[in-house]
Amino acid sequence: MSLSLGMPALRRSPAQRPSTAGRPDLPGLIDSHGRTARDLRISVTEKCSLRCTYCMPEQGLPAIHRDDLLTPGEIARLVGIGVRDLGVRDIRFTGGEPLMRPDLAEIISLSAAVVAPDGEPVSVSLTTNGIGLDKRIGELVAAGLTRVNISLDTVDRDHFARLTRRDRLPAVFAGIEAARLAGLTPLKINAVLMRDTLAGAADLLEWSLANGVRLRFIEQMPLDADEAWARDNMVDAAELLSVLGRRFTLSQPRREDPSAPAEEWLVDGYLVGNSPATVGIIASVTRSFCAACDRTRLTAEGTVRSCLFGDDETDLRALLRDGADDATIADWWRAAMWGKQSGHGISLPDFQRPLRSMGAIGG
Ligand code: SAM
Ligand code: SF4
Repeated sequence: MSLSLGMPALRRSPAQRPSTAGRPDLPGLIDSHGRTARDLRISVTEKCSLRCTYCMPEQGLPAIHRDDLLTPGEIARLVGIGVRDLGVRDIRFTGGEPLMRPDLAEIISLSAAVVAPDGEPVSVSLTTNGIGLDKRIGELVAAGLTRVNISLDTVDRDHFARLTRRDRLPAVFAGIEAARLAGLTPLKINAVLMRDTLAGAADLLEWSLANGVRLRFIEQMPLDADEAWARDNMVDAAELLSVLGRRFTLSQPRREDPSAPAEEWLVDGYLVGNSPATVGIIASVTRSFCAACDRTRLTAEGTVRSCLFGDDETDLRALLRDGADDATIADWWRAAMWGKQSGHGISLPDFQRPLRSMGAIGG
């Protein structure tokens, strides 16, 4: 079995700027399928405190050499170019596990200081497994963190330990509680939907309703380093709805934002705060939102990745370190996004998994 452990072979050298043939002369991160990226996901590390079976290999990802990681100053420079020159408005730090970076507060504070041309501050958020968040929430909020999504797939401690290969559920609960107390609400909880987690899905929803957090289930994608994902065994949104429907009455409200990946279902009879409770379902495989995708990604080593499933990467770190000016870097970033593929193509017969796994891209 081959494993999607390491870095892709397809990384471009700085001498090869992607083609922009046919691209209109517009400032934003447009692609040839008519989409514009404004949401920037930045991976800050490959390290993680867990080893979720749907993401990481048991031994963890190969270590990235310290000198190969973007520094806080380099990240902030790219955020500045993204926001000032390319129309980026939302910044989300991810990984690996972003809390594994000791300088995360510095990364956040330098990035949160960037101001958009219209004078609006950018939104700076984090996707995390929550472990250690209770100890760092003060410095992160002071640095400018405004929102946090926490990943949690089960509220059963033994199950959690099997699924993540680490017995750390109490630490995740402590992180969730700290985020709530710090006022980072509405707090979103992401759960990956798998055959292995389906039986506990209603318990997880019940726990989320009792704890005032917004739960979203995400269909599992073929991005696990172990390459165990199989289309004919995956749990889809329809199967989840039928399982949740045995304990809850769900009714679907109108979609407020058609480009939002989550379909929000009202959970009848429950409130979160003063609002009707909802549960989100992100059917990333069976009802892909690729046609409305507005994401652009930076890997921890500073390559632009236009799509989770596209292995072509453009090396902005090399440009940064070669002394390129902002205009040149912006130009390369636009070129990288112009060639973004139309969709993930998971259901196509010739679908091929990307070389990097989820933890090595940044989810
Ligand atoms: N460590 C952080 C965390 O777990 O939230 C951030 C990185 S993690 C790669 C980002 C998100 O990707 C998490 O919500 C995780 O559940 C999700 N994810 C990982 N592997 C996935 C897969 N194969 N399919 C769908 N989502 C996945
Ligand atoms: Fe780590 Fe997040 Fe991947 Fe789990 S999903 S192994 S917490 S990076």
